[in-house]
Amino acid sequence: GEEVWCQGFSEPDAGSDLAALRTRAYRDGDDYVITGSKIWTSHAEVADWCELLVRTDPGAPKHRGISWLAMPMDAPGVTVRPLRTLAGSTEFAEVFLDEVRVPVANRVGEENDGWRVTMVTLSFERGTAFVGEVVACRRVLGEVAEEARANGRWDDPGVRRRLGRLNAEFRTLWRLTQWNVSEAESSGGVPG
Ligand SMILES: Cc1cc2nc3c(=O)[nH]c(=O)nc-3n(C[C@H](O)[C@H](O)[C@H](O)COP(=O)(O)OP(=O)(O)OC[C@H]3O[C@@H](n4cnc5c(N)ncnc54)[C@H](O)[C@@H]3O)c2cc1C
Repeated sequence: GEEVWCQGFSEPDAGSDLAALRTRAYRDGDDYVITGSKIWTSHAEVADWCELLVRTDPGAPKHRGISWLAMPMDAPGVTVRPLRTLAGSTEFAEVFLDEVRVPVANRVGEENDGWRVTMVTLSFERGTAFVGEVVACRRVLGEVAEEARANGRWDDPGVRRRLGRLNAEFRTLWRLTQWNVSEAESSGGVPG
């Protein structure tokens, strides 16, 4: 927990269609010079580094012209603007990039091969990245059930049905996590 990374993938017009991203990087000597903006970047305001997707070949088919860079968040030209959610938290931010210089040595994978690197990254998210949330949900549900038993609400069949349904959903998520782990083991350690 000594170093925090954020994920600079999504853009205002590149969400579900991530490969439509337009943040542009061109080579200048040993650096990429980057201009564009990212959105929904979780924990950007506390991150030390960003996994940044940039377009290095605007002429190539959209999945082919993308590169993956490790960008220090304190580089000149990086501006982070937190977004407040309805629940009041500011875990997300917009990140604006204005002629930010990142060394070519910070690229992971080949130039224009960033989509493949991204799919490896995302396979971890589809694997076990959210196991903490599943554990927390199951614990909170247990506490809610205990409270319902203590205060008499448990006698209401509607309450029991809703808690039972949630319990089934969380158990399913937990089984899915276990299944992901054993699948990854049997396929040589690749998650997702
Ligand atoms: C909790 C959370 C944390 C996140 N953290 C990060 C982060 O750290 N870094 C980052 O880069 N991104 C992050 N994101 C963004 C996320 O990964 C997605 O990129 C983003 O939520 C989807 O894009 P959008 O919101 O622009 O929705 P859109 O792509 O605009 O989609 C809006 C709606 O249209 C539907 N839709 C879209 N395309 C089609 C289609 N072709 N056909 C039919 N329906 C369609 C979608 O299903 C959706 O219902 C985060 C999102 C969440 C919820």
